[in-house]
Amino acid sequence: MTDLLYGRCDACGEDDPLPVSALAEPRACPHCGAARLPFAAPFELGDPRQLDALDRGPLPLLVLYGAAWCGATHRSEEALDAVAAEERGRLVVVRIDVDAQPELAARDRVRSLPTIVWRHRGRETDRHPGALQPEALSAWAALHQRTT
Ligand SMILES: [Zn+2]
Repeated sequence: MTDLLYGRCDACGEDDPLPVSALAEPRACPHCGAARLPFAAPFELGDPRQLDALDRGPLPLLVLYGAAWCGATHRSEEALDAVAAEERGRLVVVRIDVDAQPELAARDRVRSLPTIVWRHRGRETDRHPGALQPEALSAWAALHQRTT
């Protein structure tokens, strides 16, 4: 159940639930035939098990830990949205609210907001505490996108 991460075709709006294992595969909507791609916008994590499902998938994750009350988190959102759109199909951008997911924030040792953590196949590969400018984040994303 938690493997089903996004369920609606952008083109026709029909339900088409996809498992996380299908995130990197090109796929046509069974209703209208339009190409389905992974998220073009940051994925808002609602359940810690969704991070486990994404960890089992083929794509690197860019995880931003932030909080609704944090100005530096808000200043990073434009950059995050841009990277999610630019790198669609090559990485998955995940947004985690530390107040809603305190156990994940503790597990990933988040001590300042925002903190960006790169993950691939269940392991942290890099991190950056603090806000990033859009250009810096895009350049960094290019380094971390899937190379296989
Ligand atoms: Zn469709």
